[in-house]
Amino acid sequence: MEKFKQPIYVTESFLPPLEEFQGYLADIWRSKWLTNNGNYHQRLERALCDYLGVKYISLFSNGTLALVTALQVLRIAGEVITTPFSFVATTHALWWNKIKPVFVDIEPRTFNLDAAKIEAAITPQTTAILPVHVYGNPCDLEGLQKIADTYGLKLIYDAAHAFGVKIRGTALAGFGDLAVLSFHATKIFNTFEGGAIVCHDAKTKKRIDFLKNFGFADETTVVEPGINAKMNEFQAALGLLQLQYVGTSIERNRALTRSYRAALGGIPGIRFFEDIPEVEHNYSYFPIVIETENYGKSRDEVYDHLKKYNVFSRRYFYPLISQFPSYRGLESAKEGMLPVAETIARQILCLPMYPNLPADAPQKIADIVRRFQERR
Ligand SMILES: *Cc1c(COP(=O)(O)O)cnc(C)c1O
Repeated sequence: MEKFKQPIYVTESFLPPLEEFQGYLADIWRSKWLTNNGNYHQRLERALCDYLGVKYISLFSNGTLALVTALQVLRIAGEVITTPFSFVATTHALWWNKIKPVFVDIEPRTFNLDAAKIEAAITPQTTAILPVHVYGNPCDLEGLQKIADTYGLKLIYDAAHAFGVKIRGTALAGFGDLAVLSFHATKIFNTFEGGAIVCHDAKTKKRIDFLKNFGFADETTVVEPGINAKMNEFQAALGLLQLQYVGTSIERNRALTRSYRAALGGIPGIRFFEDIPEVEHNYSYFPIVIETENYGKSRDEVYDHLKKYNVFSRRYFYPLISQFPSYRGLESAKEGMLPVAETIARQILCLPMYPNLPADAPQKIADIVRRFQERR
């Protein structure tokens, strides 16, 4: 096997042709309206509602501030049940609100919060559940909603991976009391940085828009100490342009996913997700699980071996959020409390996946993985 001539990273930001963005830039320059609910901001909100098939969306400067704000919108306090198997921003959003995270284990099938284990973690202080649609795979929507309804809890989804994902024709971003999206540079739809909250009524949208703009309700009314988390016109303009390409990006990722699946099929000890019939996926990640007992080598050995071939995979999500110093002292974070998450965190590896990944890369990467096993 020859190594790749150029480094292949786990992802590469998608950008439209520069010439297409220049017209938008010139227009913003002329208008001198750079931020604060400008023309492009308003257009992107409408366009995203259409694209996602949701009624209300509020744009943010990034997904983390959208998460922080979402919790404030619903006045969440006390304890919130969440997953340890996510990007740190999920739990950090609780920390910034002085909310105690209560980690509950994940399902072995989807790596999402296990609804069956939530009830045991509920206390009188619990106010909400914050699950994540990890890799864009839908959470147990009905199971989670049922628990939220039974115990009177709010349900806020971190849908940062789920842009464009649909279940039985409905956007995943439309589920829960609120859902938060990220448009970070590494996500399938990016606005350089960016994010959004999806909600279901005009009143809530109004409150979200107050809170992302210092709490201003009008010129002289400040409802509470809101943050500055507004999306600017440059981000919004890029978003409008990116929206024209995201369908093609998803198509390309789907083709690459099929290539990976075909090329990795039948390697003992290597598992990956298959399509779910009622789900239209966005194919924005290609995670594999490496079972050392059957593959013969560890995930970390594969991770290091790939580097020799100029392939830079990533161990998303390792370490678990519950293993970082800020959180590991929590009762729910103690070793052995989250056995499924602990196992998956040791076995998971995300292979390169992005629209401009060369079409033959999945086959080559799979060959490296296959031959590495044969050398044992
Ligand atoms: C990317 C991401 C975020 C944070 O979004 P930013 O836009 O980078 O602030 C939150 N949660 C998850 C699961 C993410 O992957």
